[in-house]
Amino acid sequence: LTIPSATVSRLVTYLRILEELELAGEPRTSSSDLAERAQVTAFQVRKDLAYFGRFGKRGMGYSVALLKREIIDALGLNLHWPVIVVGMGRLGHAIANFPVAAEYQFEYVGLFDVDPQVVGTSIGNLPILHMSQLPSFVHERGVKMAFLTVPPERAQATAEKLVQAGITSILNFAPIVLRPPLSENEKDVGKTKTWHNVTVENVDFLAGMKRLAYYTHDPKSPAVEEV
Ligand code: NAD
Repeated sequence: LTIPSATVSRLVTYLRILEELELAGEPRTSSSDLAERAQVTAFQVRKDLAYFGRFGKRGMGYSVALLKREIIDALGLNLHWPVIVVGMGRLGHAIANFPVAAEYQFEYVGLFDVDPQVVGTSIGNLPILHMSQLPSFVHERGVKMAFLTVPPERAQATAEKLVQAGITSILNFAPIVLRPPLSENEKDVGKTKTWHNVTVENVDFLAGMKRLAYYTHDPKSPAVEEV
């Protein structure tokens, strides 16, 4: 069963809402309550939760704690996720200094760069390693997830190295569209090779600024981006 990526995004939103409800001491919620808070329809909430086929009953509402647990399990947030950060410049440092462990069981296990000035320094108790050490590190530690914070012109080649090393999930901060690499044979016929089982999520605050510019520019459009 493939869950649409829009549903995965909304599950993350529902989880945030459930965390807030739990903090506020609310024991129960409903699809209409979740819908209002997430700014979607109650039908959409029920449809999203139905992918997992085991959340509550219509009209009965949901236990906040139970639904939260179900979404955590469905997203795989109950598991330990070792993460590496590749490109330890300004952004890499800011990211590596962020307490990612507060977000479930994500853990920075390795930091990588190519600059001899940077390699060998540390952030907290994590040393910054050279990229040449990445393949064996990823293999030995079973790392699947990487944050990519290299300059845009290095991002494609670096992403390909990550995938070759066994990384399957990339949070790409470089402002480029990553493409599946061309294999040697397929180059001749001009076909792109499918980047099997690799997921790329892009994070780009500059893209957000550009969208905001549009809405700020056009007085007929809403001033605040719709979610
Ligand atoms: P930076 O120049 O300060 O740092 C880049 C680091 O990558 C350097 O330490 C460099 O040595 C390293 N590097 C270069 N080539 C490498 C390679 N092949 N392998 C490993 N490391 C390599 O840049 P920055 O300001 O930290 O920005 C990093 C990236 O993030 C850029 O692509 C930038 O455009 C992007 N960025 C994105 C956002 C966002 O919202 N997504 C915000 C700021 C910057």
